Amino acid sequence: MSDEDDHLRTIVYGESAISYIKRSSLPAYPRSYEIWYTYSAGSNQALNGAINKILKEKGKITAAEIQSVYNQFLSPSRLGDKLENVGQKVSKEVEDIVDTLKLSADATSDYGAALEKASEKLKKFKDPDKLQVFITHLVKSTHAAVASNKKLETQLLDSKRQIETLQTNLETIRYESLTDELTTLSNRKHFDSSLEKMVGQAQKSGTSFALLLTDIDHFKKFNDTFGHQTGDQVLRLVALSTKHNLKSGDTACRYGGEEFAILLPNAKLSDACDVSERIRNSVMSKELVKRSTGENLGRITISIGAASFKADDTAHTIVARADEALYLAKRQGRNRVKTEDDLAAAAKSGAA
Ligand code: GH3
Ligand code: MG
Ligand code: MG
Repeated sequence: MSDEDDHLRTIVYGESAISYIKRSSLPAYPRSYEIWYTYSAGSNQALNGAINKILKEKGKITAAEIQSVYNQFLSPSRLGDKLENVGQKVSKEVEDIVDTLKLSADATSDYGAALEKASEKLKKFKDPDKLQVFITHLVKSTHAAVASNKKLETQLLDSKRQIETLQTNLETIRYESLTDELTTLSNRKHFDSSLEKMVGQAQKSGTSFALLLTDIDHFKKFNDTFGHQTGDQVLRLVALSTKHNLKSGDTACRYGGEEFAILLPNAKLSDACDVSERIRNSVMSKELVKRSTGENLGRITISIGAASFKADDTAHTIVARADEALYLAKRQGRNRVKTEDDLAAAAKSGAA
């Protein structure tokens, strides 16, 4: 998008944010502006959902609620807070288990001591009545020990469940930290670390892999014509078409705004071309219809650049080649797949 378009779009969000702040009669701190700007842009659905819920229930939002929405959905320390929270819960749970086990050991040794004492006393008993009283006492102690074991079992089961919940929470946090919220593909951070790993492996073991970079054609115009939110739906659709054409083990990521990066382990350049053509055709074949109005939005196309690992590659050099191939595809008319081999041919013919 050109600077001018970005200027216009963001001014609209900014003005909308200011009008929300005015309506709420709350201070116009930068934090409130960030919240209402994000709300106006509609780029964080969870945040919009939370605000809409408060507005629906109470008709207005308080400063404390603004703070809470900020902490929950925008604060950069959000992930750290969540991890700390889970960490604290885990250590509390472990402490409780250790305490429970200590109690149980005490109870069991009490019972053991009672039994030992009883066996000593039993040797001395001649009177059957006294023996009867003693056995009754012994039975009571046994019941108490059984009850205490039952309680322990329940507590341990409860702890096991709590720890399982905490593990699930940790998995969710890990998933969130590596996933792009809009498309649910892997995010840039995940891509960067996966690529580094793959380059390392390829250098060590001599295996190869391929990298595709995808960019939606004329997407700025699409956004300008049909709106950013419809544009977001298209990003989801391209992500889905990409996912559907990959094998397990391949990694599709949102590389940046409307660009995607795909890692294909053990693939040659010709395999990469096949996969790219499948994704390109699948995107192109979809007729876009706006859900809310039924309006036909036509079709969109994508351009793809492909490169495969070479012995002296770094993460940077392979991305640079795929990127150049992508821009060759753009220059040669878009809606096509180009590879690093095409770059050399284009340079020779002077067409690049
Ligand atoms: P080209 O064919 O050369 O790629 O043209 P283009 O218009 O797609 O390229 P350009 O890089 O100029 O514009 C990319 C546009 O993608 C800018 C912006 O409107 C849109 N975009 C980037 N990120 C998002 C997003 O998260 N949501 C939406 N809806 N649009 C986005
Ligand atoms: Mg782009
Ligand atoms: Mg584009």
